[in-house]
Amino acid sequence: MQQEARGRQAETAAKARITGIPAEVARVMQLLNAAGKETAAVGGCVRDRLLKKQPKDWDLATAARPEETQALLQQAGYRVIPTGIRYGTVTALTPGGPVEITTFRLDGAYSDARRPDAVVFTGDLRRDLARRDFTINAMACNMQGELLDCFGGQRDLRAGLIRCVGEPDRRFAEDALRMMRALRFAAGLDFTLEAQTARSLRQNCHRLAMVAPQRLRAELDGLLCGKGAGRVLEQDAQVLCVLLPELKEDAPGGRAYWQALPWLNNLPPQPVLRLAALLHGVQDVSGALARLGYDNAAKARVALLASLWGTPPPQRDAEVRRLLGRMPPEAFFQLALLKQAEAFSQQEKEAAAWRGAADLARRVLQEGQCFRLKDLAVKGEDLLAAGVPAGPAVGRVLHALLKRVIEGELPNEKHALLQQAARLLTIIEERPD
Ligand code: ATP
Ligand code: MG
Repeated sequence: MQQEARGRQAETAAKARITGIPAEVARVMQLLNAAGKETAAVGGCVRDRLLKKQPKDWDLATAARPEETQALLQQAGYRVIPTGIRYGTVTALTPGGPVEITTFRLDGAYSDARRPDAVVFTGDLRRDLARRDFTINAMACNMQGELLDCFGGQRDLRAGLIRCVGEPDRRFAEDALRMMRALRFAAGLDFTLEAQTARSLRQNCHRLAMVAPQRLRAELDGLLCGKGAGRVLEQDAQVLCVLLPELKEDAPGGRAYWQALPWLNNLPPQPVLRLAALLHGVQDVSGALARLGYDNAAKARVALLASLWGTPPPQRDAEVRRLLGRMPPEAFFQLALLKQAEAFSQQEKEAAAWRGAADLARRVLQEGQCFRLKDLAVKGEDLLAAGVPAGPAVGRVLHALLKRVIEGELPNEKHALLQQAARLLTIIEERPD
């Protein structure tokens, strides 16, 4: 019986075919194959087609050396960009979009656990597949769509498992980033880590501290936005804690992290939102994000959202204008989304209040209500013309007027504002501070 079942499995494996190879990609494969250089589609595109998904891009691997690939494609009229000649990669610009073509290679030693010191090219596709990280990413197909699966990638896809190609300890020691990639794929595909891979990851996760932050960031974004993010971040919190010790359960930021995990997936899949949810209890949010390779814009936005965490939902136009005056409108809506997602499970009333606040803010914006200096119906020059002396008084009067307009105490009308300006000026002149 068992043998029969195994036979059937082998048969399906033999019959598996990759469909949907775009014509432009097939053309490049055909061209290189016709020149005697074996060329296959590899990695993510093969995995995604087996999952019946549309691949983000189609990566090719070839027996041709990078200069040969470049020459063959140029002869056929393609524009070719030598994107990573040292690592064997060139990019062909096809009418259907860019296609990356990388020479079959064996990665050399990774003395810094980050990047191979040297790559060695090979003519052997199987050896190229053997250097890849996980079984589900180590499959290839030729231009007829025939699958080459040497490491049980299809079996693991069916079982929903992330399993290292080869010995996990060795593979994670070679390149520590693979541990973050394992979690990224587990979260993105909603898969689990195969037992040995999981054990090895937990034992080796301290090595993640050696990985360059820019490499981490891309994988972390993928992990945070995956449909299984909450689950993976709960099961493997210790891995993230290597990079962010602030999130340890007994640290001040840890409580907020653990409380956010159950509702993380109620948020849209945007890294900034999910980071704000997880890190809002951390004291130095900006410093934590710098360690993970985030840019200034992301650091500033997450820090802003975290600093506003305790804000009660605004209920009147004036309260909305006050908040809008302190941040870009986009940040207001992000705050509203975060607070709704947080309140969703426990405090339905608070979630509803934030939903209402977002509606209010949309109307405030639609009506063009004033909450910034640039919306104010008087400018500095109007004040000067009305007799306000040049100097710091101009800015102080403008800010005082804006505050009253935001609070709804004054209409945003030139006449009324100038009248009030004259009154304010006497106060300012009497109390220069
Ligand atoms: P996605 O669709 O999310 O881009 P992908 O599988 O294409 O997924 P990439 O990061 O684009 O992932 O990498 C392309 C392929 O290169 C992978 O499928 C894998 O075979 C291989 N790969 C990438 N990074 C590594 C690594 N650090 N170690 C080993 N193999 C890797
Ligand atoms: Mg890819």
